[in-house]
Amino acid sequence: MSNRNRSQALAAVSEIRPAAPAAPSPIHFDEFGADVFAGETLREYLTPAVSKSLEATVKKGAPLDPAIANDVAAAMKSWALARGATHYTHWFLPLTGATAEKHDAFLETDGDHAITAFSGKNLVVGEPDASSFPSGGIRSTFEARGYTAWDPTSPAFIKRHGNGATLCIPTAFCAYTGEALDKKTPLLRSLQALSAATKRLVRCFGLSGDERVTVTLGPEQEYFLVDKHFYLLRPDLLQTGRTVFGAPPAKHQQLEDHYFGTIRARVLNFMTEVEHELWRLGIPAKTRHNEVAPAQFEIAPIFEELNLACDHNMLVMEVLRQAAERNGLVCLLHEKPFAGVNGSGKHNNWSVCYGKTNLLNPGSEPRENAIFLTVLTAIVRAIDSHADLLRAAVAGAGNDHRLGANEAPPAVISIYVGDQLADIISQIVKGVAGPSRKAGTMRIGVDTLPPLPRDATDRNRTSPFAFTGNKFEFRAPGSSQNCAGPNVVLNTIVAESFDYLAGELEKAAAAKKDFHETLQALLQKVIKKHQRILFNGDGYASGWLAEAAKRGLPNAPTTMDALKAYAKKENIALFERYGVFSSREMASRYDVASDEYHTRVRIEGEIALEIARTMVAPAARKEFLASKAAGSAPGAKAVQAYAAQVGKLLGALDRNANALEKALLGKHEGIIKAMKDLREVVDGLEKILPDAAWPLPKYREMLFVY
Ligand code: ADP
Ligand code: MG
Repeated sequence: MSNRNRSQALAAVSEIRPAAPAAPSPIHFDEFGADVFAGETLREYLTPAVSKSLEATVKKGAPLDPAIANDVAAAMKSWALARGATHYTHWFLPLTGATAEKHDAFLETDGDHAITAFSGKNLVVGEPDASSFPSGGIRSTFEARGYTAWDPTSPAFIKRHGNGATLCIPTAFCAYTGEALDKKTPLLRSLQALSAATKRLVRCFGLSGDERVTVTLGPEQEYFLVDKHFYLLRPDLLQTGRTVFGAPPAKHQQLEDHYFGTIRARVLNFMTEVEHELWRLGIPAKTRHNEVAPAQFEIAPIFEELNLACDHNMLVMEVLRQAAERNGLVCLLHEKPFAGVNGSGKHNNWSVCYGKTNLLNPGSEPRENAIFLTVLTAIVRAIDSHADLLRAAVAGAGNDHRLGANEAPPAVISIYVGDQLADIISQIVKGVAGPSRKAGTMRIGVDTLPPLPRDATDRNRTSPFAFTGNKFEFRAPGSSQNCAGPNVVLNTIVAESFDYLAGELEKAAAAKKDFHETLQALLQKVIKKHQRILFNGDGYASGWLAEAAKRGLPNAPTTMDALKAYAKKENIALFERYGVFSSREMASRYDVASDEYHTRVRIEGEIALEIARTMVAPAARKEFLASKAAGSAPGAKAVQAYAAQVGKLLGALDRNANALEKALLGKHEGIIKAMKDLREVVDGLEKILPDAAWPLPKYREMLFVY
């Protein structure tokens, strides 16, 4: 008896021959942005007046002039038709966490002939039936109308497939009542809030506050690739994106030989295809490399404006998945596809600029430094005051296997600033100069601070929230998550903190107090109060959790613990005050996230039960009967012992499967516990049953054969 599926899969993969190195082919950089309706293309297709008006909306956040909608639509249509698009769609980001699109052809008829049509109204609003998207009770099916509204700050683009193309118009998705049903709307609102607060804060330092505020994001995206032959033989991967069973292979990541290793030819071909597609979409894919776990990789773009970067990250995930398919691979974006090796995250590199100045850049002159330290202090205050919200924003069934599961980063949110900044912060707290400065009292904004070499700041890779030279890197978001969620929180809590500090400075100014003394005292007070959130040590170290508890830092190891933050009165009030979420929208986020969590856990439990009963148990039973029969031969003691061992595990399998079946009628904690027990038995069987009889592709195959 043997499992032919697996051996056939192995044989099929062994036949795959990546192409040999080719002669140099044309470089694709000149295709950058070719499928995006922006920049040069706008000027080519629009009259100067219309193009100027549109650019003012995009660049300066001016309200969209409704009079230009028809002109823009007509231009977009001719451009899209010229680029081969037959359809258009409002492209949006519902609360499922995926993207959504419903295509309409440009086609109309005048009775006899086909004509093309696409009006300003088609561009500006859409009315998809909203009833089948999760809304957390905001929109019941009897009021199914939902609206998509054009977001001119994220340019339209063309998505291509084998024999056609579609014009995609990024939109926000709202209910009839105006409540947000998507991830983009609150993000745009939070950007407005942070922009206003930033302007207010810089005014305290004598700047005009009239320049544009931009928030930037560079999301590093991790993922796994498995050969499709194996994928199709794993119902768990197919249905949940992760393996619910699988014994650890002898070699996985112990030798640390995958990270930054030579990229295999097949994978490099895939990556190249991905990049060409992304460049055409105007997505500045920059970095590619092998990650820590076997079969794990990373792609990182050059940072862009936050709203655009979020849309682009959604497209990166889509292009990764589709290009993988074309290459006979499957791209796994789940946070933990394989137990025992690293999971996948999405490092969220974030910063705020006022005009051309990155406020997270230490800068060289006193005023810049003073603003930098004020911004830094404000962020420390924001993260310490609202760590629970940041944690909630990255909660999810997949991420539970990373955060709070002895993996990087931990579920406790803390900030890493590096030794030099820590030194400066402690000088502020003490109010005196430390060894790295000349003697004398430190007066921020008057004296020059020690220079901060940029690249010396980040040697720590375990902190959930790290200052990395000119940006903060939030490392907790999961690889599959939409970047919008954590950035909505980050923008809002930082806006609140900027406002707090600006308010204090304004009060002092009104009372004619000395600015520098006020600032010095304020930063000292705020840092003193919030410095417990600073932690420069190893986030994985066993002592850290106890230490964090002593400091009173919240630790929400699971999704349902974390989501409680959405229900807290003061948190709801915060988002309402900043116009980011209404209380109903907050409640809906909680409901949707909690429903999704429970549904995912249940699906995992059901697939585990099905695999255990219909694939593993039959193989084990057959083996048990065969070895039992063989054991009756004279002198076959070892065979008897083996049969007894298989029999014992078989009994346990039966019991644990029944327990899981029962648990599936109850709550998630019970399901998770029953799945864990079942996994132990199944993985135990995998280790002793004949290799050829094992019905599922093994870890060593999925992680190494591609
Ligand atoms: P790593 O964290 O792996 O060392 P890098 O330092 O190269 O990687 O940067 C990671 C990401 O951070 C990239 O996407 C990069 O574009 C982005 N990044 C760099 N500067 C900023 C910034 N000021 N704001 C937002 N993202 C940034
Ligand atoms: Mg990084």
